[in-house]
Amino acid sequence: MPKEVADTPENMEICKKFCGPCPTFQANTLKEVPPHALFCARGKSTKPTADIEEKGCSCFGCPIFPDHELEGGYFCIYGIEGKK
Ligand code: SF4
Ligand code: SF4
Repeated sequence: MPKEVADTPENMEICKKFCGPCPTFQANTLKEVPPHALFCARGKSTKPTADIEEKGCSCFGCPIFPDHELEGGYFCIYGIEGKK
């Protein structure tokens, strides 16, 4: 079972290194709409799901991903339950 990810400045700093350069994040300008990043803690982007194009997910390289037994990736689109 995935463990809850805390919405902390430390985790945001880690997230920035992975979501930040992610092609999905860049192409869909997700930084500009809440919750901006750290989607595995904060939930999916408020940008409508249908308006976000999948272009790859960098979560799989992020240390928070295995540390919290996360699954699926694309938390910006699908929220913390991950991709169904
Ligand atoms: S959750 Fe995954 S797909 Fe979405 S911006 Fe972050 S790394 Fe990219
Ligand atoms: S698992 Fe993805 S959304 Fe969560 S901190 Fe890492 S890069 Fe960001």
